[in-house]
Amino acid sequence: MTPRRSNMRHAVRWAKSASAPLGFLTFICAIVLLCALALGVEAVWRPLPEGPATAPWTAVGLGLLGLALIPGRLADVFAAAAVFVALARLVELSSGGGLLPVPVPWSDTLAREIADGTPVRMGWNTAVMIGLCGLGSLFMRMKLVSAGFTAIAVASGAVLVALLGYTYGQVHFHGEMALPTLLVGGIACAGTMFRHADRGWLRVLLGVSNTARAARQQIGLIVGGIFAVGFLLTLAGMGGSAETMFAVQAMVISVLVIAATSVGFRRVELAERRLRWTLEVQAMRDALTGILNRRGLFARMDEMCGAARGSGRCFSVFAMDIDHFKSINDRFGHAAGDVVLAVVAERLAAALEPNDLIGRTGGEEFTVVAREVTGRAAGDYAERLRRVIEVEDFSGRVPGLGPVTLSIGIASTGRCNDGLLDLLSRADQALYRAKERRRNAVSF
Ligand code: GH3
Ligand code: MG
Ligand code: MG
Repeated sequence: MTPRRSNMRHAVRWAKSASAPLGFLTFICAIVLLCALALGVEAVWRPLPEGPATAPWTAVGLGLLGLALIPGRLADVFAAAAVFVALARLVELSSGGGLLPVPVPWSDTLAREIADGTPVRMGWNTAVMIGLCGLGSLFMRMKLVSAGFTAIAVASGAVLVALLGYTYGQVHFHGEMALPTLLVGGIACAGTMFRHADRGWLRVLLGVSNTARAARQQIGLIVGGIFAVGFLLTLAGMGGSAETMFAVQAMVISVLVIAATSVGFRRVELAERRLRWTLEVQAMRDALTGILNRRGLFARMDEMCGAARGSGRCFSVFAMDIDHFKSINDRFGHAAGDVVLAVVAERLAAALEPNDLIGRTGGEEFTVVAREVTGRAAGDYAERLRRVIEVEDFSGRVPGLGPVTLSIGIASTGRCNDGLLDLLSRADQALYRAKERRRNAVSF
């Protein structure tokens, strides 16, 4: 694993673990806001004199979003309650009814404003933000990942748009989100998004692929650039609505295009990786029997020796050859010979000790690599494999075919440093001795 890869895995893990603390922070901020509302500390809920203020129901909604991020049985209930509050406010806004009466007791300022008929109420953009953030959590819980991310992204978008309004000197931009709402809502949206950092397109964007890295850079530059331009324009006294609108559109469209492109590229990357893996597997396996081929067996033996080097671990190699196989072909046909090869490979593979290797190293020749056995134990093991084939009944698959037998030659080593080829040729010599003697036998 390269350092970059582990760093990015780390990013996903970090984001996920940040979610609950962000939820807790949201909840604490909401409590502070509610206390300030009750005690009349206006600077907290209306930091800009004459500017937009955070309404009591907004603070309640934010608190619910925070609670929904703290793992527990009631998390979904809190998310649903936040959605309910937002929905009630949206219905109220569109119908003009009084679904959410401003609760009392509140401070003098609030009470006076209520009496004047101009109470602090939740704006529609705040309602959309709270509602979609809670809905996003619920969608994710229902495994509707795309819908969930879309809801959370739009909720975060409402926060970003309001922030953009502030940087461009437009306090009343798109529905007046108060600064405390913006700040705490931003924390809640980030926490909700981070909670699902290992899923959907967020996982891709936080991932290790080159396209994801490029996408992160581009999104950072575009969002940062647009905010910086706005801030500088405002500093120069040139903040205005046309620029702001253009900036919002440019930001939203750019971010969407980049995110979609990087997800698309990532899919292509994954498809290529899968294809490469399939080709690698195919190159290492024998098509007829499904076990390792010569190349695959050598590669695995190399790996095994690399891992065991210096440890003094011993192992044995069995060179196996089916006896009089040519006559099976001659009497029953090549197809029947193929069936016998497949059955022999399957039975041998099933009879191996765990972690031992088997490969088809020639036409009717197989090689087994047996770990941790030499001498007598290796002989017993080979004998067991020989008997597995000897007692197999092939007549079901190839009518008329009697017993099939193997000759086996064994070579052992105490050190992996011995040349593998040398070991295999020693096993082959032992195999020839077995053939010379009487076949259907094991020889060292
Ligand atoms: P011995 O006991 O000395 O090993 O005799 P044998 O007949 O098994 O050995 P020989 O080397 O004379 O013949 C091996 C035969 O295996 C020859 C070849 O046609 C056959 N063979 C090799 N690959 C395949 C294959 O993939 N399928 C089939 N059906 N036969 C194969
Ligand atoms: Mg042979
Ligand atoms: Mg043979």
